Amino acid sequence: MSQVSQVPLLDLRRHGAELDAALEGAFRRVLTSGRYILGSEVDELEKSCAAYTQSAHAIGVSSGTDALVLALMTLGIGPGDEVVCPTYTFFATAGAIWRVGAKPVFCDVHPTCFNASAETIAKVVGPKTKAIIVVHLYGQSADMGPILALAKERGLHVIEDAAQALGSEYQGKRVGSLGDIGCFSFFPSKNLGALGDAGLVTTNDPELAERARILRAHGSKPKYYHQIVGGNFRIDALQAAILREKLPYLDGWTARRQANAALYTSLFEATGLTAPNACTPGCSTSCRSGGAAAGAKLLLPVACQSRHIYNQYVVRVPGEGKRDALQKHLASRKVGTEIYYPVPMHLQKCFEQLGGAPGSLPVAEAAAKETLALPIFPELTEDEARYVVESVAAFFT
Ligand SMILES: *Cc1c(COP(=O)(O)O)cnc(C)c1O
Repeated sequence: MSQVSQVPLLDLRRHGAELDAALEGAFRRVLTSGRYILGSEVDELEKSCAAYTQSAHAIGVSSGTDALVLALMTLGIGPGDEVVCPTYTFFATAGAIWRVGAKPVFCDVHPTCFNASAETIAKVVGPKTKAIIVVHLYGQSADMGPILALAKERGLHVIEDAAQALGSEYQGKRVGSLGDIGCFSFFPSKNLGALGDAGLVTTNDPELAERARILRAHGSKPKYYHQIVGGNFRIDALQAAILREKLPYLDGWTARRQANAALYTSLFEATGLTAPNACTPGCSTSCRSGGAAAGAKLLLPVACQSRHIYNQYVVRVPGEGKRDALQKHLASRKVGTEIYYPVPMHLQKCFEQLGGAPGSLPVAEAAAKETLALPIFPELTEDEARYVVESVAAFFT
């Protein structure tokens, strides 16, 4: 039996004194520099992030949401255009499409990894489709090979929403470097978090990089001369300095998240509540459907792609109302959980006029009712993981 009696979903204060000292140093560096927006801290962060994401160019921006808006603006997407994105995602993916005046067109997701696939995307691509936003949900890459092939065949841009997936890989290549533009978030709950809002755009295309840089600061080049209308998507020097200090720790944190995931999986398997829920290698569409694993009370996440960075460890609880009941039970045992996400985009009130109907994207709708994120942060202790698993097991017995 574990000795702890509560486990938070995420504890951002466990990084320790060593890092605190480095962050205080970064703060002082920026304070005394007198340069608080862009500047050398941002230049250095961009260089490191370009290398880390295996991209030729990285452009620091104000948030992951703004990274998406900027990516769409950089590709010239606007009114009259349609952009396909998964319905099962964080709101910003769809909101960004709407905000540039384009029409979001939602596709369903795969039942095991919860990512869109070439198959689900192809079903909704039409003559007005200009781009696809692929989301690497929970820290795992979508099956990019077939998606990129589809995009090429149909002449579509590919934006990667890699907000949850910094350092994640597809067949040995880092996400964010696979499509035309990659978008990252440094929101505090992401694997690399700032002390506030910040984000990043990546690309291998020098012309897109140049255009994104110009659009980041109101479309001006030179200053006060505007050929195009941009916005204020700039990143603070302070956030860049903080992120520069944290980036060298990221691989270590990721390794601990992966170890926590492996520990959960072995502990859960020992409970007998789970059933096989495995993708075929490469996560093409023919995997053994997660939702269909007969008799399982609990389905565990599967690392279908080579480097899952576990921004979230999301289990699936089949059965009407079971997930919500489990969440309540865990709350009573002081285990923090979260539902990512309870309402798919095609059923959101704000997108009602797009005509999305219940039942139209059934895999995502079922996922929204059955998934639950458990604590997976790097500093989670083994005892805490055991307490989480014991608490889940107690619900079923
Ligand atoms: C966090 C997140 C975003 C938005 O990032 P912010 O920095 O919070 O604006 C976009 N897409 C996904 C999938 C995310 O998880």
